[in-house]
Amino acid sequence: MDVGQPLLEKGMNPIIHSESYSGSLFLVATPLGNLEDMSIRAVNTLKQVDLIAAEDTRRSGILLSHYGIGTRMISCHEHNEEQRTGYILGMLEKGKDVALISDAGTPCVSDPGFHLVRCVREKQIPVIPIPGPCAAIAALSASGLPTDQFLFLGFLSKKQTHRRKTLEGLVGQTATMVFYESAKRIPSLVEDALLLLGDAPACLARELTKIHEEFIRGTLSEILECLASRDTLKGECVLLIQGARSNAGPVSDHELDRLIQWYLTREDASFHTASLAKDVSRQLGISRKKVYNRIVRLQEAISDTQKGIS
Ligand code: SAM
Repeated sequence: MDVGQPLLEKGMNPIIHSESYSGSLFLVATPLGNLEDMSIRAVNTLKQVDLIAAEDTRRSGILLSHYGIGTRMISCHEHNEEQRTGYILGMLEKGKDVALISDAGTPCVSDPGFHLVRCVREKQIPVIPIPGPCAAIAALSASGLPTDQFLFLGFLSKKQTHRRKTLEGLVGQTATMVFYESAKRIPSLVEDALLLLGDAPACLARELTKIHEEFIRGTLSEILECLASRDTLKGECVLLIQGARSNAGPVSDHELDRLIQWYLTREDASFHTASLAKDVSRQLGISRKKVYNRIVRLQEAISDTQKGIS
């Protein structure tokens, strides 16, 4: 199949599975919301392949009919990907070309496809990406946060304890962190991130490429305040948080207390003051002695409250 004219320097060899008798698996990125974001190469590929495996055939049907693509479709989603892999491998081995698309964006990025790609690669069958929209990259590029290093974390667990554990592991992370989350759960994610990563500069990108596209920029507490002032928050969101920087501002006492209090009131709270001081000082980048003294003061205050002393 013609995969478009490669942009190659003179003398370079376009190695496009010339020795291969199998077909190819094309990973085709599709728009996040704006149909015009479909590339010419993506349209041509979907027209020319023998089969399109789509996450949701009804949803993709709208895109395909918009571009006059009549290729046969089958479903391939998280619940049937393993079973579909066998069928798709069979097609590829017979020399047929297959394209994989998801509902929006790049297949395999927080979307089905990884299992299929791994199996296809294991059979030495060509896998060809047709790049295009990806919410993480679109959000990062326009966020105004450092783009030199970034860490894509996708969706964190819906369970708060697991989510917080992951965030705890990100303390000290210097790269910009990129999270996917539904509008419904964004406030809890921002709240947990504020607690564990401090009041870092951040950006919430919502409804990218759509009519109500919006970027809310500020520190995590400012973003939380902005979200609290709204009746509803709808749409799809990407949260980006700037990594820890050596030139970050000083940690406020309020920030320090909030983190210590969180540790002290955790259900599984069983620790030594010294080791807690070590963890918090590492987390916030401030002196262990200062944290230790603050923990002791807060522990005394908590015990006074429990005894009813004000
Ligand atoms: N494969 C897709 C990609 O390349 O970005 C991601 C699919 S994942 C199932 C869906 C999540 O991506 C959403 O919950 C949201 O976090 C993010 N997302 C997708 N479209 C978006 C948009 N238009 N604006 C903001 N975030 C979006």
